[in-house]
Amino acid sequence: MEPIPYNKPFLCGNEIKYIREAVKSGKISGNGAFTQKCQRFFEDKYGFGKCLMTSSCTDALEMAAILSGVGEGDEVIMPSYTFVSTALAFARQNATIVFADSRDDNPNIDENQIESLITPRTKVIVAVHYAGFCCNMDKICEIARHRNLILIEDAAQAFDSYYNERPAGSFGAMATFSFHETKNIISGEGGMLAINDPKLFSRAEIIWEKGTNRADFSRGKVSKYQWVDIGSSFLPSELISAFLYAQIEKSGQIQLKRLKLWNLYYKLLKPLEDKGYISLPHHSSESSGNGHIFYIVCKNAKQRKKIADYLGEKQILAVTHYLGLHKSPYFKERYTGAPLRNCDRYEDTLLRLPLYYEMRLEDVKYVCSTLGDILDYLNVK
Ligand SMILES: *Cc1c(COP(=O)(O)O)cnc(C)c1O
Repeated sequence: MEPIPYNKPFLCGNEIKYIREAVKSGKISGNGAFTQKCQRFFEDKYGFGKCLMTSSCTDALEMAAILSGVGEGDEVIMPSYTFVSTALAFARQNATIVFADSRDDNPNIDENQIESLITPRTKVIVAVHYAGFCCNMDKICEIARHRNLILIEDAAQAFDSYYNERPAGSFGAMATFSFHETKNIISGEGGMLAINDPKLFSRAEIIWEKGTNRADFSRGKVSKYQWVDIGSSFLPSELISAFLYAQIEKSGQIQLKRLKLWNLYYKLLKPLEDKGYISLPHHSSESSGNGHIFYIVCKNAKQRKKIADYLGEKQILAVTHYLGLHKSPYFKERYTGAPLRNCDRYEDTLLRLPLYYEMRLEDVKYVCSTLGDILDYLNVK
């Protein structure tokens, strides 16, 4: 048996062809034909207001943080169980990060805790859709509307996920996506900001293009472009968008395969959950996933280590996930909130199983039977 990695980037076939086309066209910097084709795909297929490609989801989060207008003293509510960039982008604007706990039944933010964290200084809520399963968007949108807060979705993992049949990324004033090689569709590094609030469209373009009104210049609306605001060089080169466009073209096929693998995992591991050995992902019926991550929740850190070690001996790479940001070396001195018990629990017990486009159904069966072996063994011992 070949070793089964955790992830393996998949090449759809036309990546090099499109990069060559971009090079031949003579336009290889940003905001050319491929950038615009990628943006149009997301706007048309998912109904996002306006999309801007970025060099990473981290960049998209930084743009969102700037556009939200937060500064010193403003508070931003987000889960602690997330990637560093979710918090980093707002910390860079000197905002105060207010970490919320995860739910009991899955790592998404516990929406019932949000109200108690809101103060007169709260400006933004960031909903992170973990493993491609949307947070409870009915409740979170209601809170944001009622309290007049800006809702931002970190949809880095939620390409082609849905909540009540509405796509992830269509709920917030803004949403951010990642095309890092570990995500469902990829360009090595890459990301996108989707902007749904029309009031933010024109400033978004300026921030994207180094604080200049270059977009208006390209449209012939102004005769010279100049420095008009803050910003950075957030846009990726055409080479990145050309690569991504090849992935976009095959995204339907990628999603079908990943969901097939995910569903097979769920079916084969259900008996292990029924025996009380481990827990599987639990999400509301409103939330339909995208086959991004398949995770299990172990009983405790010790059981997880034994499982991961045994899988490793059998050439299967299973990996843990986030360390709670509220206890990170950068943040722990700043953290003044309550203990986040679910966040701590997922930090200790969540284990991600291999899942990638080229994985075979037999590979999933092998992972599941190996997992069954070690769990039976641990249970009789
Ligand atoms: C991957 C990821 C990011 C960062 O994406 P990059 O494109 O690598 O910057 C941010 N947030 C979440 C939840 C992620 O999974």
